[in-house]
Amino acid sequence: MEQKRDYYEVLDVDKNATEAELKKAYRKLAKQYHPDMNPDDEDAEHKFKEASEAYDVLSNADKRAKYDQFGHAAFSNGGAGGTYDFDMGDIFGDIFGDFFGMGGNRGRRNGPRRGGDVRTSVQIEFDEAAFGTSKVIEVMITEDCETCQGSGAKPGTKPDTCSRCHGTGQERIQQNTLFGAMTQVRTCSVCHGRGKIISDPCNTCHGSGKVKNKKKIEVDIPAGIDHGQSIRLQGKGEPGELGGPRGDLLITVYVKPHQLFERQGYDVHCTIPITFVQAALGAELEVPTLDGAVKYSIKEGTQTHTRFRLKGKGIPHLRNQNYRGDQYVTVKVEVPTKLNNEQVDYLKKFAEISGDEVHQQRKTFFDKVKDAFDDAIHG
Ligand SMILES: [Zn+2]
Ligand SMILES: [Zn+2]
Repeated sequence: MEQKRDYYEVLDVDKNATEAELKKAYRKLAKQYHPDMNPDDEDAEHKFKEASEAYDVLSNADKRAKYDQFGHAAFSNGGAGGTYDFDMGDIFGDIFGDFFGMGGNRGRRNGPRRGGDVRTSVQIEFDEAAFGTSKVIEVMITEDCETCQGSGAKPGTKPDTCSRCHGTGQERIQQNTLFGAMTQVRTCSVCHGRGKIISDPCNTCHGSGKVKNKKKIEVDIPAGIDHGQSIRLQGKGEPGELGGPRGDLLITVYVKPHQLFERQGYDVHCTIPITFVQAALGAELEVPTLDGAVKYSIKEGTQTHTRFRLKGKGIPHLRNQNYRGDQYVTVKVEVPTKLNNEQVDYLKKFAEISGDEVHQQRKTFFDKVKDAFDDAIHG
């Protein structure tokens, strides 16, 4: 596979570029290489994807910090939001709403308008992220006002048809230009496109027809989700206007760190202490895993920082629960710090039998390297 380019290089920005600079740089590239503008151009498509990926990572503080620390390796296993694109639509909404008239509210004026997205977050435990869970979250969601049923007019009264636009929501402006008289159609400045004027506003919503309510929503969090990834619930955001669809609810998932386990992609890493006797003689260890303790035998003469793998004991893949990452266990040999006299005697005896001088320093690694050179030269 081709070497991945540095994200900052892709966007042609400084390492400490601000959010605004990133957005500006990405817009420029996205506009230039957008597939709609470059049909059947593979190179443009590649550049477009590359820029989108770079922006996806760098525009997210969490991902950016990971990337700054570990580079592309931070996302190599598809973890940490690297290739997971729950959020892709979101980026498109944010960026393209402005200049393609897609998604966002700024594009088209008089037609139905899609409601805004609502963002929130939820914190879950490490194993909940691994195996999936369901959480009830509370969000402030805009709803139609119950008092006036969304009309904005005081019950018993009715909104009046706007006299400026006669209910169409649009007004025509005649302008005399060099090329003659031009007619411009724009949103009615009196009713702001609603076509109606409320003269007697509802007391509950003050004429807006909308109220904010705290709402409990149950969210299914899929197994395998990683810290910083978001879940999009379509149509659970702000209500649209003039018959437009509701926006989405975006829930960012924060995973609490685990005492023993550390996640890298779909793999789980942990370190367990063993005694030097266990290391020397071999032992059957009880190893904690996400599925509970399992037994694992280490052989005699196991060195400290030896790592072994428990296949399939990692985290289920987000897109395919049948696949699981692995667990990597590093053993750390602990040297006893408090020995009683009897133990000291035994260890001295042990050294004696082994022919070790207790008070003499062992040959260091560099001495050994030097010996090897001497042997090579003189031997
Ligand atoms: Zn109302
Ligand atoms: Zn009007």
